[in-house]
Amino acid sequence: MLKRLLPNLACMLCHQHSSSVVCQFCRYDTVFFHHTDKPSNLLLRPEVAKYVKHSAIDGLYSIGPYQWPLNKLIGRLKSSRDLLPAGVLADWFAESIANADLPLLPEALLPVPITYWRYYQRRYNQAVELANLIGKKINIPVDTQWARRKTAKQQTGLNRQQRLQNLRRAYIVSDGLPYRHLAIVDDVITTGSTVDVLAKQLKRANPRVKIDVWATAVTLAPLVNRS
Ligand SMILES: [Zn+2]
Repeated sequence: MLKRLLPNLACMLCHQHSSSVVCQFCRYDTVFFHHTDKPSNLLLRPEVAKYVKHSAIDGLYSIGPYQWPLNKLIGRLKSSRDLLPAGVLADWFAESIANADLPLLPEALLPVPITYWRYYQRRYNQAVELANLIGKKINIPVDTQWARRKTAKQQTGLNRQQRLQNLRRAYIVSDGLPYRHLAIVDDVITTGSTVDVLAKQLKRANPRVKIDVWATAVTLAPLVNRS
């Protein structure tokens, strides 16, 4: 706690002297999804959309590609409940949304749930931490009761079809949600399978709802054994 009250003297990424958590040089070297000459909705950018499953998602918004330093900040957030990287990610995400050509903001942020077992191990859900910080900055409520993750079978050792089937059975989604426009929040989108399954279930349970995905980073290069 005391550490958080003291001014930062070093950049979290390069460890050089800095009065901010991430120094100006590291920020300068960060690759952002800029909105000046391209649509803010990444699903309208073929170089992103081709890697992300989006049969039920209407929009995808993110800070930048999953590479240094976003991977480092997200890794740190996941490995320990360190709110400093979460704060940087939330600040950058809020800036990105402020610059986006977004017709309307969603009415609620829905963090992707994790299993009770994972929660028990980690004591926190990084998607909830991010959603809370972003929601506070942009003034959008966070709904953590919208879905529940069951203790599903491990995805490892399953083929692509089995993984998808496993994923479809993994979540229970609420019906009768009082919203028309939502954003599912996650730290990183790798294939989009999880958020797409969740969006599909949400639309089935809540017809006519518009669903965006807000992720702090998106993986662009295809991975081996993507699910
Ligand atoms: Zn730095």
